[in-house]
Amino acid sequence: MITDAQTFKNFIAGEWVNAASGETFESVSPADGETIGIFPKSSAEDVDRAVAAAKTAFEDWRLVPAPKRGEILFRFARLVEEHKDDLTDLMTHEMGKVKAEAGGDVQEAIDMSYYMAGEGRRLWGQTTPSELKDKFNMSMRMPIGVVGVITPWNFPIAIPSWKIAPALVCGNTVVFKPATDTPLLGERFVELLAEAGVPAGVVNIVHGGGGAVGDRLVRHPDVPVITLTGSRETGVEVMRNAADHLKHIHLELGGKNAIIVLDDADLDLAVDGIVWSAFGTTGQRCTAASRVIVQEGVYDVLASKLVAAAEKLRLGVGWEDDTDVGPVINRTALEKIDSYTKIGVDEGAKLLTGGEVATGNGLDKGHYYRPTIFGDVDAQMRIAQEEIFGPTTALIKVRDFDEAVRVSNGIRYGLSSSIFTRDVHKAFRAMRDLRAGITYVNAGTIGAEVHLPFGGTKDTGNGHREAGQAALDVFTEWKSIYVDYSGKLQKAQIDTAE
Ligand code: NAD
Repeated sequence: MITDAQTFKNFIAGEWVNAASGETFESVSPADGETIGIFPKSSAEDVDRAVAAAKTAFEDWRLVPAPKRGEILFRFARLVEEHKDDLTDLMTHEMGKVKAEAGGDVQEAIDMSYYMAGEGRRLWGQTTPSELKDKFNMSMRMPIGVVGVITPWNFPIAIPSWKIAPALVCGNTVVFKPATDTPLLGERFVELLAEAGVPAGVVNIVHGGGGAVGDRLVRHPDVPVITLTGSRETGVEVMRNAADHLKHIHLELGGKNAIIVLDDADLDLAVDGIVWSAFGTTGQRCTAASRVIVQEGVYDVLASKLVAAAEKLRLGVGWEDDTDVGPVINRTALEKIDSYTKIGVDEGAKLLTGGEVATGNGLDKGHYYRPTIFGDVDAQMRIAQEEIFGPTTALIKVRDFDEAVRVSNGIRYGLSSSIFTRDVHKAFRAMRDLRAGITYVNAGTIGAEVHLPFGGTKDTGNGHREAGQAALDVFTEWKSIYVDYSGKLQKAQIDTAE
């Protein structure tokens, strides 16, 4: 646990340095208002220095054999394992999620780093026969250069690992801008990378806001790749601002994920899945279940079971063992979540439980919101269409499977989806017909594993995927290589092999 507010720095070219302006900002715990640390409020000048360092470091790093780059990631994964407890504790303070989930966030980074470390001995290309005699053809993945990594606060250790581990093993260098709500976790991540042996300049961290630091990275001519996880609005802006340099843009954006519960479902299992997916991380997951689409035969019983389960959840600080639901990230988020409660009520939805800021028992020191369930929600209401990013979920009643799929798909996002049913035919139709990057059968909408692609369709992104082998496509470009050992000039499509 943090006791005194320390001052931290940027990490550029292997040195810890202040922002050029000397300005700072504070990271404050959403759980109890404690100051976590003081960080450099950086500007374009700091970004430019970090990019220059990363650009220089790239020329050596790209030549380090990929298995050796992987070995550094193995060491990093081991270091994160050794520090799992302190990173977990720090996360409960700085970001607010409860201990078990904070441990899961750190574990995801461990898993991803081991997985990508192993990629150092794969990074497979292809060989294929030539159409000509005495000629060899192959394709190889090539690193691209400096990668700008821009991350949100909700997975402050896991998300940086999804981006930085594959970027590095592929031979790129990194300038990392963590969210201003969770700078210390970003800082610790980079410290451990340096301790693992990442050479100076290969990974740099520049703290500060999206406007000053993020935007400069996005527009910088020497940063050919931007990987951003954040809101749809930020994604649109980033894509627009990067257009002049035709950058590779990788976007992981919002969600409005639904769990479908059919009449034949195991209802108690469904309730467990909904509570975990809607209120886990206080609903602040891109994959959170903010809609529950329920077939009419089980609607009433499911609604009452859900309300009872939600009302049992204990709110509190994440570092205490018996806390189920932690705070939301900051006051702005709290106000936004509360405004959606008013919107839902005004739209005519029925507030079944929650719908208010939680106070008393020390909760006033942080930002807590009661787990909130709306019933009788129409699929077109704003609370059923817009990302709230808090502990609010909307129950939508449907007649049958077809209507459930239509409602599930009837949103602009396409990240995660889920169905609870015992009917194998419907389960397979759902796997085919739900328009989302992820479908769970008889599980909630959350719980990705690192060796499968992660990401969404429609406005959740721009067609890329994070994690698994798919991540490598973001951080490499294909090169095709033709080696002619015939000793004469052979012309493809013109000379024919005999
Ligand atoms: P956000 O979009 O406000 O910020 C994300 C990051 O972008 C921050 O580091 C921010 O400083 C930076 N940023 C903001 N404006 C920028 C700009 N103009 N140029 C460059 N950088 C800029 O998002 P948030 O509130 O931190 O996170 C919540 C959002 O992230 C939600 O919409 C959630 O669904 C989404 N998210 C998506 C995934 C996914 O994998 N699809 C995972 C987690 C979170």
